[in-house]
Parts: sequence; C-alpha cells; structure tokens
Amino acid sequence: MNLIDFQIFMALHPNITAVFIGAIGACVGSFLNVCIHRLPKGESIISPPSHCACGQRIPVWFNVPLFGWLLLRGWAKCCGATISVQYPLVELITALLFVTAFLILSPVKAAIGCVFLSLLIILAGCDMQDMLVPDAPNFLLVGLGLFFSVVAPSLHGETTSGLEIINRINSVTDSLVGIAVGTALVWWIRTIASVIMGQEAMGEADIILCAGVGAFCGWEGALFCLFGGSVIGVIIKLPSVLALFGPKKESESVPFVPSMAIAAALWFFRGPELITAWHLWVNS
Ligand SMILES: [Zn+2]
Repeated sequence: MNLIDFQIFMALHPNITAVFIGAIGACVGSFLNVCIHRLPKGESIISPPSHCACGQRIPVWFNVPLFGWLLLRGWAKCCGATISVQYPLVELITALLFVTAFLILSPVKAAIGCVFLSLLIILAGCDMQDMLVPDAPNFLLVGLGLFFSVVAPSLHGETTSGLEIINRINSVTDSLVGIAVGTALVWWIRTIASVIMGQEAMGEADIILCAGVGAFCGWEGALFCLFGGSVIGVIIKLPSVLALFGPKKESESVPFVPSMAIAAALWFFRGPELITAWHLWVNS
C-alpha cells in the first residue's frame, strides 16, 4: 500500500483507521512509559523487560496497553502494590495525539508528528515525575528535526517550488533558523532572569527543548513554545499562585517542560491558524 492508497483508505474508512492508529499509539505510549520511568535514572530502556516494582515479571496479558491497567484496576497481582495512573494516562494521551495527527495533518506530517509528540511526552513525563530532563531525547529532538527537514520539506510547508533541491534547502534553512532562534531566545531570557532573580531561572534542558521545537516547527514555533508555554504554565499553576495570597506555603519549583510541550504540540497541529487568530485578535 503506497501513500496515495493509504490516503484513499483513510478517507473511505476513517473509523477503522482511527482505531488502528489509536492502538499503535497506545503501544508506543506503553514504551514511552518505560522511557519516562528509566531514562532519568540512567537505566537501559531495552532490558530488563517490564517488571513490577517488587521485581516480578508482568504477564503478557497484563502488559496490554490501557486494558492491562484496567484489568488489574491499578493493583499489582504479585505484591498488591498500586500501579500509578500515569501508565494508562500516558498510553491514552499518546493514542489520542496519534489519531488527531492523522485526522488533521497530511500523512507525512502526521507520521513525523508521531515521533515529535512521542519525544515531547517523554520529556514532559520525566520533568513531571523527577524534575529531571534527560539529555538523550532532548538532543534527539534537535537531530531528528533537522533530519526530517532534509527528507520531508513539506514539514516546513515547502512544496511551492518545482525544484526538489530548492524545497530541501528552504526547509533545512527554516529548521536551522528555528534552532538558532530557540537557543538564543531561551539563553537570553535565562541570563536576564537569572540576574534579576539572583538564582538560576531556566535550565539548560529548556534551551535544548526550544531548539528542538525550532528544528521541527521553525522559528515561529520556537517562539510560541516559549511564550505560549509560559501562558499555559501560568494557567496550570494559577491555583497555587492564588494560594500564595493565603497562608504562606513553602515555595515549590514548577516543571516548565510540560507547558512548553503542550504549546509545541498545539503549534505543530495548528500553527498557521494560531498566527491568523492572533492577527485577528490584535487588529480587532
Ligand atoms: Zn509486584
């Protein structure tokens, strides 16, 4: 089945395609869980195979994405330990994002999107779980963004020129400018904020992440990842910000990567529409 056949099949059978892609997404999500759990600890993501916290192997049928957790109702059979709701949640989110990508993007951009979104889920998951962002998936984001810009210029909307080579050069330029802007932007904000606040404001991981988003989405995407991410971060954290006005609590550090990842995903799905909406709002 070539790309055209696949597009025709998708148009004729959207429900079957959605279920099929959702199932693949849930399986990928299951692997992302392993990455989120092991990468910050510096453990291998290949061996040993998935096991319970008590060390027992998990039977295959309880390892089925989503259903395994539902079957066990969140309790490990071997030792009765609770299994975090994070596992089915990551599988569900991955499945939904994969289906959305194939429903609203071109097949090539959707396939690249699945890689992009998977890496974002790993980075956000690690930051939420351990407040520690591993370097490997972060640098992979930058490298793969550049790679896909070379092999699939349509990632940056480069389909206008009749010459394939020109499309590729334009696409790689978009990606490189995205990396440069993403890096510089966070570096400057980090430097200035650190001087004002007298403590480290953002981590190096935020710089690499923003560069990676620039590599996949161009400089506008990097910009939106940072500023849109800040707005999303404030909205998510609003309850605890408001709580500061109440009885004093110990100040807690905020994982910023999840907000940046949400903004990056939004941009990947609907970047041009977000610019149009912004212009309409500014000019109204
Ligand atoms: Zn156990």
